[in-house]
Formats: sequence, structure tokens, C-alpha cells
Amino acid sequence: MPDWIHPVLTGAFLAVSYRVVRSSGVGLRVAVLVLAVLNAGLLWVVAVAGPPWGVPVVAVVSLAAAVYHLVGAARDAVGRLRVVGPPEFRGLVRQVAEASGPQVMGVCVLFTGAVALTAFADDSRPEGRQFRLLPGPECPFCLVEEQIRDFLGPSDPLLGEYRTHLAAGSSRHLLVRRPSEQDPWTGRLRDRTVYRVPPAFRRPPCTVHDPLLGRP
Ligand SMILES: [Zn+2]
Repeated sequence: MPDWIHPVLTGAFLAVSYRVVRSSGVGLRVAVLVLAVLNAGLLWVVAVAGPPWGVPVVAVVSLAAAVYHLVGAARDAVGRLRVVGPPEFRGLVRQVAEASGPQVMGVCVLFTGAVALTAFADDSRPEGRQFRLLPGPECPFCLVEEQIRDFLGPSDPLLGEYRTHLAAGSSRHLLVRRPSEQDPWTGRLRDRTVYRVPPAFRRPPCTVHDPLLGRP
């Protein structure tokens, strides 16, 4: 068997792997982990069994494929993102609420003051549609709390929990879901320390949230 077979097959296999992992819909972190392990393993095999030029050539092919798919994934993400106004935002929420399950919806006030809305078909399909409500005269935190009240009830403990995190400067990601139309909605706050509350100049005045967030 000629010695170029190893690197060529490995390079081709890696290039196909990037496509398979990207189209599988796994998150970025899992994809990076899987492909890093795959790269390390295959480059080791080429280093042991292939010609001396095998490792650098396969590494370059792998890097080119990684960049190609990262750029493609970023372009897809931008393509899925749509900016909406408050009426359309509420219409989308209503659409989620009225759809037959399983349904998952995520709402989060971003550091920019915009509200991110993600409507997933279900938990395992993070390629769901993404929407942005840009900062406007309406308080974004009130909008998130409106969803907690509408989906989970006016006295759900998640409301207090959400405000506790806000007071600590953390803007949590609200996720509501139900497995089917017959099941009740359940909610949780995604625990991410990087979700910071937007600074005062990026949010409109609000009688409910200003005291909580300490607006000067
Ligand atoms: Zn508010």
C-alpha cells in the first residue's frame, strides 16, 4: 500500500466528519470536543503509520474544513435571526403557547438591552428559530416577567427567583416547556453567570425594575 493512502484517507474522513457533526445539530461545545478528539486520534495514527509530510498536510486540510464550517454555521445563525417589534414578539409567544407539544421557548434580556426569543420545536433541536426585540420604550424585564406569569401563573416562585438574580446583576435565561398539550408548562432559569444585566443607559425607565437594579 503506498504511503500517501493514510493521509489522503484521513484528510477525506476528517472533512466529511465536520459536515456530519455540523448537520447533526449538536451544540458548538460538543462539536468542538468531538472533533478535537477525532483530530488528535487520527493525526496520531498518521504520525505513526504515515509518511513524514502526512501530519502537516492533514492538519492543514482539517483546519481549512474547520474554518469553512465555522463560517457556514455563523452565517446560518445570522440567517435564522430575525428582528421583530413588540406586537410580533407577542404574536410569536402566542404561537408557541398554542402549538401542540412538545414545545420549548427561551426568553432572555441580553447585555445590549435587546430581548432574545428562541422557539424550539423541542429540547433536542437547538437549531430553532431565533428572534430579537431591539431596545425600545418597553421594559425588557417586564416582558420576560409577563411570560413567567402567562405561562406559569401569577404567583409562580420563578418570578421571585428571576428578580433575585436581577438584583445580583445577572439576567437569567427563562425557559418554559411542556412535553405535550396535555401537560402543564414548566419553567426554569438557565444558570449562566455570563448573562449580565444591561447597563442603565441601555434600558428604559421602569417603576418595577429600577429600584431592583439600582438606577441612580
Ligand atoms: Zn420593568
